[in-house]
Amino acid sequence: MLTATKSRISPGRLLINNEWLKAANHFDTINPATGEVLTQVAAASLEDVDRAVQSARRAFDDRTGPWRKISASDRGRLIWKLADLIEKNIDELAELETVDNGKPIFESRYVDMPMVADVLRYYAGLATKIHGETVNTLENAFTYTLREPVGVVGLIVPWNFPLLLASWKIGPALACGNTIVLKPAEQTPLTTLRFGELGIEAGVPAGVLNILTGGPLTGRAIVQHPGIDKIAFTGSTAVGKEIMRSAADSLKRVTLELGGKSPNIVFADSDLDSAVKGAINGIFYGKGEVCNAGSRLFVETKVRDEFTDQLVARAKKMQPADPLDPKTRMGAIVSQQQMQTVLSYIEAGKKEGATLVTGGNRVSLNGSRGFFIEPTIFGGVKNEMKIAQEEIFGPVLSVLSFDDVEQAVEQANRNPYGLAAAVWTRDIKKAHQVSRLLKAGTVWINTYGLMDASLPFGGYKQSGFGRELGAHAIEHYTEIKSVWLNMA
Ligand code: NAD
Repeated sequence: MLTATKSRISPGRLLINNEWLKAANHFDTINPATGEVLTQVAAASLEDVDRAVQSARRAFDDRTGPWRKISASDRGRLIWKLADLIEKNIDELAELETVDNGKPIFESRYVDMPMVADVLRYYAGLATKIHGETVNTLENAFTYTLREPVGVVGLIVPWNFPLLLASWKIGPALACGNTIVLKPAEQTPLTTLRFGELGIEAGVPAGVLNILTGGPLTGRAIVQHPGIDKIAFTGSTAVGKEIMRSAADSLKRVTLELGGKSPNIVFADSDLDSAVKGAINGIFYGKGEVCNAGSRLFVETKVRDEFTDQLVARAKKMQPADPLDPKTRMGAIVSQQQMQTVLSYIEAGKKEGATLVTGGNRVSLNGSRGFFIEPTIFGGVKNEMKIAQEEIFGPVLSVLSFDDVEQAVEQANRNPYGLAAAVWTRDIKKAHQVSRLLKAGTVWINTYGLMDASLPFGGYKQSGFGRELGAHAIEHYTEIKSVWLNMA
């Protein structure tokens, strides 16, 4: 039996102006480990979106309201308090994330939620360091810049790291003084709703943080609403393109964190044991539903076969299990639809002539109707194959090979995405040379998947633009105003 959640959240409402409001329509959110309905969630209508935007607008525009009067230092304190509340409620939040998304509790409790608190604390500290500058221009002029909040920001988040990816946007948005309309993914709304409760507990003023649950219709309404000044989106490249087109009508500011098909390059001179562990972690962490998953593994031909054998041995030990069991390292795929997508890519790989070396099947756990798939590895993959070019977003690794640096880099870059990459070698010069040649927003050397609140993250090419995390995010949540004073 899969363990049942102990959480006390009762969703089904929308957070607008610090009130939990009823919606006309609802939809189910499913526990992917059991296939059972967890609860019903509100589907925000166009009217609900409008109400949330008006509330955020009032909180932003009202010169007398609490948000505009609050100092940067107090905004920082508020964000810090949110981080404290995340830590205070960390077990409940981790469990909610796990039952909603299917990820192992080990990941939600010890990686996602601690990083949510870390990200919030980073931006709490940054709130007082956001400023303009004085600039020397004409002798008889005093010129300076002001850095002002953009206004009402629409934050749209995917289902793979629900609260964590929301925090990447909420932290800088609040630190810079914006107000928020936030939409979690329809598959995984629960931790974001709980975060809304924590926001009220922390003292976030009414209208500053509005939360609308719903699907693409709600997302579209947020993107198209004229009262929203900027959209920060994380999700698929296809939806990112649609958002960019749609935002063009009102020339909204847009930042896009999109898909990936990241190359992980292993040279024969690397510490092969570490590289095997890194490759396994790079693809199977988060069930492979990770934007920067190392889904294309390039291994130098002379060690490819021995390397693949070691990968297979490790993958076989990583079988799917109850996500709420602390020992589990492979959870459930987020939804039935995503499971079908992953299984159809596995079929495509077989049809294209790649060799299935391990996995490939759906797994049934104790007779449950959960959405589990075995860790899957394909050998003999060619870079042109669908499984090497398209983002699968599941526990499926493609192993390719190369003979020299040029071949490795050429193949690694021959893909529409450019989110992340990794290089494994003991040759420090080669490591840095290859890092420079790779077209990716992040390159790891002799490791995979490390993240920090202070280091920018984002994509080259069709993985999007704009950077989240670190001080660079501030650029995307502020406008710069130049002020001239005539001193003549
Ligand atoms: P998705 O694009 O289907 O949905 C993302 C969000 O957008 C959801 O909240 C969804 O309801 C909303 N949405 C869907 N259609 C919309 C529309 N037309 N207008 C406005 N909003 C809309 O993505 P997903 O399946 O939830 O997430 C997986 C994708 O996210 C993968 O491609 C993954 O690589 C990407 N991702 C990228 C990063 C990154 O940092 N680059 C991080 C995590 C996930």
